[in-house]
Amino acid sequence: MKVVKFGGSSLASATQLEKVLNIVKSDPERRFVVVSAPGKRHDDDIKVTDALIKYYREYIAGNDVTPNQQWIINRYADMVAELGLKPKVLEKISKSITSLATLPIEDNAFLYDTFLAAGENNNAKLIAAYFSQNGVPASYVHPREAGLVVSSGLVVSSEPGNARILPSSYDKIEELNNSDEVLVIPGFFGVTQDGQICTFSRGGSDITGSIIAAGVKADVYENFTDVDGIFAAHPGIVHKPHSIPELTYREMRELAYAGFTVLHDEALLPAYRGKIPLVIKNTNNPEHPGTQIVHKHSKDHLPVVGIAGDAGFVSINMSKYLMNREIGFGRRVLQILEDLNIGWEHMPTGIDDLSIILRERELTPIKEEEILRQLVQKAEVDHAEIEHDLSIIMIVGEKMKSHIGVTSTATKALSENNINIQMMSQGSSEVSIMFVVEKNQEKAAIRALYRAFFEPQTQE
Ligand code: ASP
Repeated sequence: MKVVKFGGSSLASATQLEKVLNIVKSDPERRFVVVSAPGKRHDDDIKVTDALIKYYREYIAGNDVTPNQQWIINRYADMVAELGLKPKVLEKISKSITSLATLPIEDNAFLYDTFLAAGENNNAKLIAAYFSQNGVPASYVHPREAGLVVSSGLVVSSEPGNARILPSSYDKIEELNNSDEVLVIPGFFGVTQDGQICTFSRGGSDITGSIIAAGVKADVYENFTDVDGIFAAHPGIVHKPHSIPELTYREMRELAYAGFTVLHDEALLPAYRGKIPLVIKNTNNPEHPGTQIVHKHSKDHLPVVGIAGDAGFVSINMSKYLMNREIGFGRRVLQILEDLNIGWEHMPTGIDDLSIILRERELTPIKEEEILRQLVQKAEVDHAEIEHDLSIIMIVGEKMKSHIGVTSTATKALSENNINIQMMSQGSSEVSIMFVVEKNQEKAAIRALYRAFFEPQTQE
């Protein structure tokens, strides 16, 4: 039995919904359908979720919200008309959208989440009606009925926009298996123990799909989007990169860390823990096998599965003569960062030098000054500087561990393309090798590495 999730672009218009219906119809194993809000129909379009944010802002500012309400209702009305659905469906949706502007503004911490969630909530009602009218008996299930109870996870009370599933939810979700109908569940939100609507972070319908898949113990979680799976490199950088047939969860996690955003990274966790294989597929090309994300590779595999890159990194470089002999040096340095509430990412070292790589957004000019001052004062470094505009490039693959020469292929490709490697690092798990390069060399580095690992025949 399969849980399928469709993203916003798969649900943006009547034409897209017809494809979705055919996908669900073509496989009776597809019993649970998790849906996003309608996304963009074309590049200049607005996602319903973004329109709901605008609507919320106008409402709390006390402005006239009628144009916002009408725009959102029209998005659904167009689909209801084109799909020939009963007028009752639209009536319900309109009422739900307009009634948002009657909710209390004061002392209502979850008001924003309630507005946002209306995009998926109403889409699920529309899709269940559409399925039922077209030969797929289906019911709409609110996350409250599904048992999707959330909290912020870290604190007892729930934090808006940051839902975390409560582990006790899974037993209730499992009961959904008793239904004979296809269940259409809105993605992106759950309910708190007090019954408040609480959303996951943006793009969070993927998380709902993963939770439902783990809860009902699906054989597979199919995540339908608008690309043929996960590409081995970003298609905006490499011309027509190939789609990866199979990835492990660990590989996916590494690629997602370094900029692969096809899937919400928090979505991996419930499916991973529930040992549910995940497949990324294309609504516009459902015959394509897509990318399977599995616990262990099923067959022999290339050592490198993908190459990712991400900009926006900074390096704090420091050196001190005889640093390697000084006990407590590392702790003193990290304490400085901790006291300034700064998170860091990587720490490549030499004998007498150490660099800390972090995301640019962790720093402000004042914090930078403070770090440099404290490094001299508290860690007594001989030299410290902060380098900006860096990118990290990761080459990822579990099979690298048992393969000799991956680094040499990579460094050869980079040097032949005149790319200066500023730092490199490889964790003991050997799932990835990371190179730090100047931001303006990031794209060239990714292209060079892609050619070296995936198109070696074109190298000569
Ligand atoms: N509709 C929400 C968003 O745009 C969630 C999702 O589509 O997954 O972020």
